[in-house]
Amino acid sequence: PKAPLPKPEWIRVRLAGGEEAERFQSIKATLRAHRLHTVCEEASCPNIHECFGKGTATFMILGDVCTRRCPFCDVAHGKPLPPDPAEPEHLARTVAAMRLRYVVITSVDRDDLRDGGAAHFAACIRAVREHSPSTRIEVLVPDFRGRLEAALEAFAHDLPDVMNHNLETVPRLYRQARPGADYAHSLRLLAEFKARHPEVATKSGLMVGLGETDEEIVQVMRDLRAHGCDMLTIGQYLQPSSGHLPVERYVPPETFAAFEREALALGFRHAACGPLVRSSYWADRQAQEAGVA
Ligand code: SF4
Ligand code: SF4
Repeated sequence: PKAPLPKPEWIRVRLAGGEEAERFQSIKATLRAHRLHTVCEEASCPNIHECFGKGTATFMILGDVCTRRCPFCDVAHGKPLPPDPAEPEHLARTVAAMRLRYVVITSVDRDDLRDGGAAHFAACIRAVREHSPSTRIEVLVPDFRGRLEAALEAFAHDLPDVMNHNLETVPRLYRQARPGADYAHSLRLLAEFKARHPEVATKSGLMVGLGETDEEIVQVMRDLRAHGCDMLTIGQYLQPSSGHLPVERYVPPETFAAFEREALALGFRHAACGPLVRSSYWADRQAQEAGVA
């Protein structure tokens, strides 16, 4: 294998100090006490100190074992446990105890469940609404491939404030980077949700550095707009370990800035593009700026 590319100076991970570090520890303790998982920890997100320090977290429901195996992703794969019926209540109590104004709820892919886990998502939304009526909720969902109708049905009465589904990469790289997923299907999920619930903002995200070109990224933006997507995030792919896909390029900050301008010109309500941007990074601020929260 090729030697990894050296990390450029703009990929610097900031460590929390003082008060933020304390908050980081206390959030971790709360999470352990409620047996909840966060993407922040499972995916070794580089923003974890900052987000935990500010009191934001992305919760991972339906367990931490995925039925798929995407070679860029650090989540464990295998045979997951059945959904925990107590989880929506645990999540809702934690969100209330942490007084979160904005929460992101996501899950691994659950190809083993008939609705892909959509009803469990809906139960979590319902429980958080009951305990924290003013908290805004963003869901970051798997693709529900082969179960789209059942999944859309499950959300019908428990809507999030933002429906997020990441395309992750350009269609040419799907076979290699997203085995089991399908570009056209993912676009359809966003479009069909929007058609049913035009009042709910839709959002998607991409990683760069997997071998795509800038022009391919812009084409994905056009496809997203053609499917009614309102919000966009683009961030740098970082290799979680030497066993994962290599980083093919580090995109410089000026190119991210150009992507952001292009996205706004194409009509996205909001675009966040930058080396350390993640789908859920400052999700609350993205939603505010998009006029959602
Ligand atoms: Fe967690 Fe998202 Fe922040 Fe990363 S960017 S630490 S996944 S909330
Ligand atoms: Fe990771 Fe999602 Fe792929 Fe599962 S489906 S391996 S959680 S990126």
